[in-house]
Amino acid sequence: GSGLAVRDLVVRFGNTTAVDHVDLDLAPGEILALLGPSGSGKSSLLRGIAGLEPLAGGLVAWDDVDLTNEPVHRRGFGVMFQDGQLFPHRDVGGNVAYGIEHLSRAERAHRVGELLDLVGLTAYERRAITTLSGGQAQRVALARSLAPHPRLLLLDEPLSALDRALRERLVGVLRDTLKATGTTAIYVTHDQDEAFAAADRVAVMGAGRVLRIGTPREVWRDP
Ligand code: ADP
Ligand code: ADP
Repeated sequence: GSGLAVRDLVVRFGNTTAVDHVDLDLAPGEILALLGPSGSGKSSLLRGIAGLEPLAGGLVAWDDVDLTNEPVHRRGFGVMFQDGQLFPHRDVGGNVAYGIEHLSRAERAHRVGELLDLVGLTAYERRAITTLSGGQAQRVALARSLAPHPRLLLLDEPLSALDRALRERLVGVLRDTLKATGTTAIYVTHDQDEAFAAADRVAVMGAGRVLRIGTPREVWRDP
């Protein structure tokens, strides 16, 4: 397959053009970090690719199949947004199991255990969501987004609520997991070190456009 193709994508909010004719290609299994100042259109680009915002123009395709008119749940993409709410009426394990309810009970239990171990929350499986710290809730949301093995994972600052030490550990764990499963991902971050640690390539956005794209070395080479 040929992976993700984004062509001439436009997302508008009234008179604001949040994503301004963006083209983007990701090979299968590739991890792209998306950087840029606040308001540069990173979240809107992810939401446009996911099918969570109506497009003012453009196309989103996976393996040469046009998904532009497919609803979110038919794209095979996983999303984790900063405001991505956990389900408060389900416990931690129930949240992680949300996307894998088609699996057998034993397979589901195994997968939930594996993912909670990955994010360091093994002891929290039966905890109520309301008892979690912001950082713990974010780690549960990350585990939930990984559970169904999406072919493309869209992560909007997935580790932003964690302290530095935990973030540095989890960015490595996350990269290893994505690579081991061949998952393609776009990873929004404000942190250059995190982008370097996570990604194969880096794209820098400004005013709704992709200003630079390349390997971390190419993008941050001295001018
Ligand atoms: P970033 O993720 O880089 O911070 P966003 O995609 O959130 O950028 O925002 C891009 C532009 O679109 C900004 O000007 C922002 O104010 C605007 N915008 C984003 N979401 C909305 C919305 N729901 N309604 C109106 N304007 C929005
Ligand atoms: P945050 O950075 O948002 O405070 P973290 O997920 O980084 O949250 O948690 C830091 C540590 O604080 C955890 O490893 C855990 O030991 C402890 N902790 C935080 N909230 C709770 C809680 N509700 N119950 C038990 N321990 C907690």
